[in-house]
Amino acid sequence: MNRFARVTTLAAALLSASLISGTASAQLATAAQPSAAPATAPAQARKANIVIIGTGGTIAGAGASAINTAAYQSAVVPVDKIIASVPEVSKVANVKGEQIFQIGSESFNNERLLKLGKRVSELLKQPDVDGIVITHGTDTIEETAYFLNLTLKSDKPVVVVGSMRPGTALGADGALNLYDAVLVASNPASKGKGTLVVLNDEIHTGRDVTKSNTFKAETFRSQFGPLGYVVEGRSLFYRLPARPHTLQTEWDIDKIDKLPEVAVVYAYGNVNPASIDAAVKNGAKAIIYAATGNGSVGDYMVEPLKAARAKGVQIVRASRTGSGVVVRNAEQPDDKYDWIVTDDQLPQKARILMALALTQTSDPKALQQVFWKY
Ligand code: ASP
Repeated sequence: MNRFARVTTLAAALLSASLISGTASAQLATAAQPSAAPATAPAQARKANIVIIGTGGTIAGAGASAINTAAYQSAVVPVDKIIASVPEVSKVANVKGEQIFQIGSESFNNERLLKLGKRVSELLKQPDVDGIVITHGTDTIEETAYFLNLTLKSDKPVVVVGSMRPGTALGADGALNLYDAVLVASNPASKGKGTLVVLNDEIHTGRDVTKSNTFKAETFRSQFGPLGYVVEGRSLFYRLPARPHTLQTEWDIDKIDKLPEVAVVYAYGNVNPASIDAAVKNGAKAIIYAATGNGSVGDYMVEPLKAARAKGVQIVRASRTGSGVVVRNAEQPDDKYDWIVTDDQLPQKARILMALALTQTSDPKALQQVFWKY
């Protein structure tokens, strides 16, 4: 056997061992190139300890029949049962389930978000916990992941995962997504990359990911592409998050007990100006105006927004288009009106960021910098 053949055989043996043990397969992913990975495998044989926190969603859903891929009841299967239904997970890591909620993710509110974040933070402080996986409904996964990405003070991997089809459906995607999420959470290469979202063979940063389709398994996208893939028991990174997260931010989940009210008002032709007044009357400290195009504001909406600002409410121009940046002082004279623009943050992400920013300042100039920074 020549030298190349011997090396190839060794690599194949390590790869197959890794697929059986699961742990080594996670180590394989630490190398940028799969072909170079086996060299790192023997040094780290310990299985990672991963806590899987169940919050509900379709990944915990069940339908009346196997053809119910989109009509089913979400949030009914306990997290321990979900884990038990994917025995491959336990080969990858030592996993422990913990049920914090059993809800559809559309029912997340500030209180539940804070409760989840604080529990994750508590677990991450335990030396025997290497990473966290959160099973979550897909509808608001992007908000929870962005919130955790901005507030957790740890570089340990935190992966939020969901599924588009319940476990009872033909083509159910939850089992593989969970397996992939545990692989990513077990992979030392996932450390320091912020809160990640894993679905449909892809690894996304919690900052950028968004749900883009109501029923397809291929629904999650990031404006600038995923960070990596999960394939055949290996998680592979190709990009890094560019914006500050977790340890690099000014927010600490342990120190936040309440989030200020931030409203999102959606713009459309014939939008009712009373929706701005309603948000103000409901106690909104800021209004994210999910405007058309590049944050354009209808002529009859300018005065209501200026009136809200005069009452001390922050006005943030965002875009309902789903991508791109909103340019300051372009569609509206933001300097003159004392308004703020999002960078590329979608309205629902802007709400999270604004709520956090308002815990520290109400200076619109400082708030504008926050949008450009995070
Ligand atoms: N409504 C569900 C939820 O977000 C949908 C899903 O999980 O895919 O909880």
